[in-house]
Amino acid sequence: MPFPNALGKGMRGETNLEKRKILVIEDEKPIAEILKYGFEKEGFEVFCAGTGAEGLKSAEERQPNLVLLDWMLPDIAGVDVCRLLTERENVPILMLTARSNVEDKLYGLESGADDYVTKPFDLREVVARVHTILRRFEKVQESRRTEASCCSIAVSEEEHTVLRDGRPVDLTPKEFDLLLFFVKHPRQVFTRSALLDQIWGFDYLGDTRTVDIHIQRLRRKADLGEQLVTVFGVGYKYVP
Ligand code: CA
Repeated sequence: MPFPNALGKGMRGETNLEKRKILVIEDEKPIAEILKYGFEKEGFEVFCAGTGAEGLKSAEERQPNLVLLDWMLPDIAGVDVCRLLTERENVPILMLTARSNVEDKLYGLESGADDYVTKPFDLREVVARVHTILRRFEKVQESRRTEASCCSIAVSEEEHTVLRDGRPVDLTPKEFDLLLFFVKHPRQVFTRSALLDQIWGFDYLGDTRTVDIHIQRLRRKADLGEQLVTVFGVGYKYVP
């Protein structure tokens, strides 16, 4: 499944059709309601929790894209909720605090919050900050994904080596050529005879079964079962 990265798409792999979710952990109902109203108007799906415990449970169940977290909660201190959230979930947090003490805010940021807003707040300011945090967070997620996909299989043409998750893979020259060809042409579908022509040459007399056998070996040796995809009735493609 391709990872969505543009704004408006979910960072947890949702499609565009699914709304991004915000969890509001706030015990003051009127404030929670204002936030719910404001973010629903912005196109978010909003869940509210009135206690820290409820918030932690809801975060686990709903997998929100962002948490708006009140600093003063009846059961667990916001700062502890913040710490627990960042330990368990990969989710950005915007802290809502009535405190004007700079040290409190720094303490909150050190506990894993991404930003804070001081109460009483202007709804537009909260909305703007949420958009900023989401943009930043999604950018980081995206670059992590790119790194991960680059690292999982590394083919060096010069050194004639293949590393799968950092471990060398021992391939025959033809297996290597075939893998290199796929890596150079990601997502393109090739028929068996096109691959035969490309890798073995036009004058090769073997049949297309040769390609199937090499694909199977590549999948097994380099653990490429999910990357070397069979396109039914057509051939094969490489999906990084
Ligand atoms: Ca409160």
